[in-house]
Amino acid sequence: MDPNEHGTFYSALKCPKCPNGQLLPGNPLSLDLSSIWLCNLAPRCDFIIVASQVMDLLKNVQLDVENAAVEHSLFQEYQNLQSVLAKYRGKILHRNHFYIMNIQYALIMVINQLLEIVNEEEALKLSYQQISLCRSCIDVVDVLRPGNNRIRGKIQLSLFKSSILSQDFVQDAFVMLLFLGNLLYFFHEGLLMTFLVEAKRRMSEGSDFALTGRKQFEDILNIMRIGRECLILEPPGSPEHTRALKLSLESSGLEPLIRFFNIRPCS
Ligand SMILES: [Zn+2]
Repeated sequence: MDPNEHGTFYSALKCPKCPNGQLLPGNPLSLDLSSIWLCNLAPRCDFIIVASQVMDLLKNVQLDVENAAVEHSLFQEYQNLQSVLAKYRGKILHRNHFYIMNIQYALIMVINQLLEIVNEEEALKLSYQQISLCRSCIDVVDVLRPGNNRIRGKIQLSLFKSSILSQDFVQDAFVMLLFLGNLLYFFHEGLLMTFLVEAKRRMSEGSDFALTGRKQFEDILNIMRIGRECLILEPPGSPEHTRALKLSLESSGLEPLIRFFNIRPCS
């Protein structure tokens, strides 16, 4: 077995003794609590730790993660998860460690809920943060759990939602939607229609928006397509499966946009 798990360092701890080292089990197959973990930069770095100390440390992480989510408001949970992430990511645990992935995934899900209730300025900040969290999780998931699966699908759809929200030309549309008190929900047909209106407006101003906007829209559709392929495998009737069914390119919300972006502008 590869101790650094195909280069993901999914179980690695940050070496406390040197700036770039990662602690890995000397024998990844050993279940012995007295087995040695050593720095991957050995023999340049001689730091070692025994497996039981690693277990104790991970128990503390687990406790911190559990405490972050228990009986708190959504905002509090968001703050708590951020603190736990800042405490461990790249400092005590490798940035790809499975606990870091769990915390990031929890944050992505909390942000999904927050995006439905916050103001537009906060939503923009959250969507940028969510994009970076999603991309960092996807990098690891693609190596360790390739193919279509539920986790990957849910991350892809969160990325889809944030990508739509963070497109600069959607900002005005987004503000307007919030102003009108519309339920902000990705794939909301109103949002897509406003997106289309804004796209047309920019194009009529004679900018090169037709090309850049089309590229952005294609990227978003691609993210959506991967999300759909993952979630369509979930049991029929489940929320994930139902969501996947809505994500069809023939959807009445998307169809005008697809038609629009297929049209080359007349000069
Ligand atoms: Zn070291």
